[in-house]
Amino acid sequence: MRRHNLLVHPELDRVAHLRRDTDWLEARLGDPTTRLYPVWRNQSFVTGPQDAPVACTVPADAGWWRPLAAETALLGVTGATAHMAIDVGDVAEPARHPELGSLGRFADLRMIGGLMPDADAALCAHARAILWWHRQHRFCGACGSPTESSQAGYLRRCRNPDCATQQFPRTDSAAIVLVYHGDSILLGRQPGWPRGMHSVLAGFLEPGESLEGCVAREIKEESGIDVTDIRYHSSQPWPFPQSLMVGFTARALNTDIVLDPEELESATWYTRSALAAAPREPRRGADFYLPRRISIARRLIEDWIAGEIAE
Ligand SMILES: [Zn+2]
Repeated sequence: MRRHNLLVHPELDRVAHLRRDTDWLEARLGDPTTRLYPVWRNQSFVTGPQDAPVACTVPADAGWWRPLAAETALLGVTGATAHMAIDVGDVAEPARHPELGSLGRFADLRMIGGLMPDADAALCAHARAILWWHRQHRFCGACGSPTESSQAGYLRRCRNPDCATQQFPRTDSAAIVLVYHGDSILLGRQPGWPRGMHSVLAGFLEPGESLEGCVAREIKEESGIDVTDIRYHSSQPWPFPQSLMVGFTARALNTDIVLDPEELESATWYTRSALAAAPREPRRGADFYLPRRISIARRLIEDWIAGEIAE
């Protein structure tokens, strides 16, 4: 099976044309087929085995969820089913809540998303991202007044009528880059990462910068390597908390690594054969493993090991 990026729903219709239709939205919130995706303080609601969790959804007509929901946002529609996110972050202890506690558990999507069905992980990612944005934009950045949600959760408007500034859901772009030289690629470690994990380098786009410029700047800053032949690979929403990872490949012009110790604690060239033989998954005490399957970083590395990235 061809590799693909996770956290992207293959068939969700975002129905942007229905977001202003308050009658349609209210009907969906009373419809027993509408699935609600609770998010509690950035954690996703799941059920099932620890090694194969699935999204735990609440039927919208259940009613008990309404006083718990600080915010709701429409995710979209698949077939005749609407999917909506609800923020239950104000519940003090969800495990002790009679309904939430008996239905499922809250978990960090970054840790478990790669174990879930693709569509479930994508809907949980979407829910987490849009509700994070709401939590971070409860007040107007222009005048400081409270804001309110509109358009099914895709707009926040300042409640001060003299201001009325509109804010739209925000995504931060980051370039993530597989840097190759001959038969080797550059992998590094950030100081805060779990012990043993190694990955390709990445960094955030700055104002006034192109993605290609970001690729060249970040690689040079972090590793001292100059790159050329910068090519787009694929992209992935990365709601931790609100990024779009834009994947690139780039050819190194030099191989002498000069680390920026603020950004990386180590960086090394790894040959294709060494990587093919190395452990992929995290293991307790392991000195080397690759990023989790959920990430575009892993996809880039796997594509390169398989010889699918043109040099
Ligand atoms: Zn304002």
